[in-house]
Amino acid sequence: MTKASHLVNTRQDPTCKSHPRYQRYRRLDLEFKDCQSILTKATGFIGGFDYTLNPYSGCAFGCSYCYAAFFPRDPELRDNWGHWVKVKQNALDKLQHMRTPLAGKRVYMSSVTDPYQPLERDLRLVRSLLPFMAERKLELVVQTRGSLVVRDLDLLTRFHRVCVNMTVTTDCEDVRRALEPRCEPIAARLEAIAQVVEAGIPAVVTLTPLLPVRSPRKLVAALLDTGARRFVVQSFHPTKGNFMAGTGQAALDMTKSLGWTEDRYREIRSILEADLPDVREGQAGFDPNWLLTA
Ligand code: SF4
Repeated sequence: MTKASHLVNTRQDPTCKSHPRYQRYRRLDLEFKDCQSILTKATGFIGGFDYTLNPYSGCAFGCSYCYAAFFPRDPELRDNWGHWVKVKQNALDKLQHMRTPLAGKRVYMSSVTDPYQPLERDLRLVRSLLPFMAERKLELVVQTRGSLVVRDLDLLTRFHRVCVNMTVTTDCEDVRRALEPRCEPIAARLEAIAQVVEAGIPAVVTLTPLLPVRSPRKLVAALLDTGARRFVVQSFHPTKGNFMAGTGQAALDMTKSLGWTEDRYREIRSILEADLPDVREGQAGFDPNWLLTA
């Protein structure tokens, strides 16, 4: 399969909006497109990698603080972040026809979308890429908030070097619902990373950004229960962060009412550093030499 054919293509056939598969995603504006290239030179925060790989543009998880929301040039796309996804339907074809040698190249999937957002369950676009990447000995870091990653454990075990980063931002479902209303509950993500660990695949929990935490001790216990032993933490502060236009006042009020300040972040970070075995902060946690050598 070189093109995504599992899902109805609303652009080619507008009448298919009544298709049962499309109905599941009816709140999303879906577009299927051919991309020019599927691997992009990694820069900035994740500049230690060779490439980033984003199988989709846009992200249906639609986190209210997502920095990727600011990247689209079209202001309408920026304003509607979380409500549209463009599917790179020729992703596998592009990967297979890369002229540069891929063995040993370090790839970060994904930097501006989530590879395991809900659509992937039907589309299986990421799943179509993994066997080729493993066979060509690419070294892969998967960054996700989606428990769907466990579907692909059979393929991830084929990689010589791989790491699954699962993002968990808080211990509090009220906070999660306020700032990440379309993401999965915290428990589902913790269960998923436990399964990754159980499968023998290197795993890291990324607390990035760290949102208001109610009980740091309980958070530590829950994180350790997953079996993960490496963690990344990074600051989140509403007055410094770029909140999206769609961020509810309720979310802003919540961070304020919970007293989420830079000092409180440092306090929680100290507890995490003291009680978890291997904690890195910020960019140091996205060093491929650390992520891919466990
Ligand atoms: S899952 Fe990641 S890419 Fe998607 S909206 Fe949230 S922060 Fe942005």
